[in-house]
Amino acid sequence: ESGKDRHEVYEADMRARTAKRLGLEGDMRRAVERGCEEFVVRYQPLIDTATGRTSGLEALVRWEHPERGLVSPSDFIPLAEETGMIIAIGRRVLREACSRARDWSSLGPGGRGIEVSVNLSARQFRDPGLLEDVARVLGETGLRPGALTLEVTEGILTEDTPVVLATVQYLGLLGVKLAIDDFGTGYSSLAHVKRFPVDYLKIDRSIVSGIEEDPRDEAIVSAAITLAHALGERVVAEGVETEGQLARLRELGCEVAQGFHFSRPLDGEALAAWLDAGK
Ligand code: C2E
Ligand code: CA
Ligand code: CA
Ligand code: CA
Repeated sequence: ESGKDRHEVYEADMRARTAKRLGLEGDMRRAVERGCEEFVVRYQPLIDTATGRTSGLEALVRWEHPERGLVSPSDFIPLAEETGMIIAIGRRVLREACSRARDWSSLGPGGRGIEVSVNLSARQFRDPGLLEDVARVLGETGLRPGALTLEVTEGILTEDTPVVLATVQYLGLLGVKLAIDDFGTGYSSLAHVKRFPVDYLKIDRSIVSGIEEDPRDEAIVSAAITLAHALGERVVAEGVETEGQLARLRELGCEVAQGFHFSRPLDGEALAAWLDAGK
């Protein structure tokens, strides 16, 4: 996830195995059977670099484990993926995020036009029930389809199986947006460009963090922005932690920034207060 790790698959696998050994799998099964209420959502503001205002939110899941406390996604998503429980958990996150975003869009002035992004892992994206879930959640929550962005990593899109192609096309018909997540960490970072138009390109924190000191990182960020703009995509910089990074990103034409410099992921109440304050 840091993007600097060259053993991602191995690591995810290791984590899944460790988690299992710790007995998390049984706990997860029980939590899912009880309706996924232990899986809670935090929201990190996405900031329009031109205005400094919040333009969107990224929904980030956490597991409120009854004994272990808050478990972070990197410690349980691999296991959830491996066991298929990510489908039920993801459905809960999607519903929660769309429902909250719908409520917040009427919170002025910060909430107006607010968009929400939801992460999908490979297994979720390939799930034949995904489209139905998305359509149902939009219908039931009343969230405008264009206010929902689904974030996927490039690897998912570059497997151009008929299922992936059809899913991308149908999501487009629904009016839902797509973002490429963690851009710059894959080994085929141009492959998606050939196949799929997306709305947002999210540049990974591992490159953004070096933008002030490392001319090579700056060159990569600059090239990614140029490429995205040429393709009609907007750019989100992840993991912005300093004013200097923000200033440089603004100069390079990056439209949206996200990171601890603005805010950590917030719970629903804190987020509502954030928007209410006009941020
Ligand atoms: P991601 O999609 O790349 O999400 C961004 C991660 O970076 C989040 O970690 C966020 O808290 C963290 N972050 C944001 N700004 C900064 C910053 O300025 N500095 C640093 N150091 N970190 C920052 P989190 O919430 O632990 O999520 C980790 C990963 O778990 C996510 O990476 C995503 O791949 C996955 N994930 C999170 N929620 C979901 C979900 O609902 N479904 C699925 N399938 N995956 C999820
Ligand atoms: Ca993401
Ligand atoms: Ca990301
Ligand atoms: Ca990342």
